[in-house]
Amino acid sequence: MLQQTQVKTVLPYFKKFTKKFPTLESLSKSNEKQILKMWEGLGYYRRARNLYACSKQIITLYKGKLPKTLDEIKKLPGIGDYTGSALLGLVYDQPRIALDGNVKRIFARNLNKKEAKIDFNKLVNSNSKMLFNTKRDADFVEALMEFGALICRPKDPKCVVCCLNKTCKYFKSSKKIRTTSKKMFKNKNYDIFCFLNKKKQIALTKKNDFGFLKNFNLPMIKESKENSNRNWKLLNNYNNSISNLKLNINLYYKFSNKIPSEYSWHSLDDKKEFIPSFTKKIFKQISNLF
Ligand code: SF4
Repeated sequence: MLQQTQVKTVLPYFKKFTKKFPTLESLSKSNEKQILKMWEGLGYYRRARNLYACSKQIITLYKGKLPKTLDEIKKLPGIGDYTGSALLGLVYDQPRIALDGNVKRIFARNLNKKEAKIDFNKLVNSNSKMLFNTKRDADFVEALMEFGALICRPKDPKCVVCCLNKTCKYFKSSKKIRTTSKKMFKNKNYDIFCFLNKKKQIALTKKNDFGFLKNFNLPMIKESKENSNRNWKLLNNYNNSISNLKLNINLYYKFSNKIPSEYSWHSLDDKKEFIPSFTKKIFKQISNLF
């Protein structure tokens, strides 16, 4: 849940989620619809799907126990080097470093060298004796991440009180590396076309190539082109940011009983179905027509 999401946003979701699914087994016996519903509003829904798929595989293939090697654990859905290392360190107390942005920044600053110029795996391997000089490997994995978040912070690191300031090259150097990079946004223009009927229903389909909401029910969405909106009424023009995308959206609608075969009708008032916030925004505006 914490991937790309702040702790304070995650906390209520985490509490609700772990109360509902206190064990991997209970999670594996659930279903994707229920899990997505609980995840509603957190975004990055692939995480929820992967978590569910992981729980099923761990129960069926690994008798309910996490694999103990990086190669094996990385075969699970959505688990790469970072998550795999974090899990092996935290769960099995293995000497591991979860190389996330925070941890990379600590290393880069200590060497006062740009991240792009560092081979982090080589660096960890060649310094493993010094780095893993502890009997508390699980705490070490966590501590390093916390250190990056709280002391060696992206902006304004707390160098004066830092326990590494005697050796840290960033602290000592008059020519410090830049460690903050601006998030690059991509601007995109989309037209959204909503078929509606008098029963307050909207036509949706899962057949869309709208990357970040793949496999979800959506109205017709197309990159904006001139003259593609004939016969449609414009309801609103608005902005919606998702991840690194800044979307400029024209929202169109028309009442029609005929819809393309891959679409089906969905109630705009349905509270049971999982609806991503992107779609909720559309529903809210369309509902004002009724
Ligand atoms: S001295 Fe400053 S830059 Fe160096 S590790 Fe500590 S907080 Fe980070």
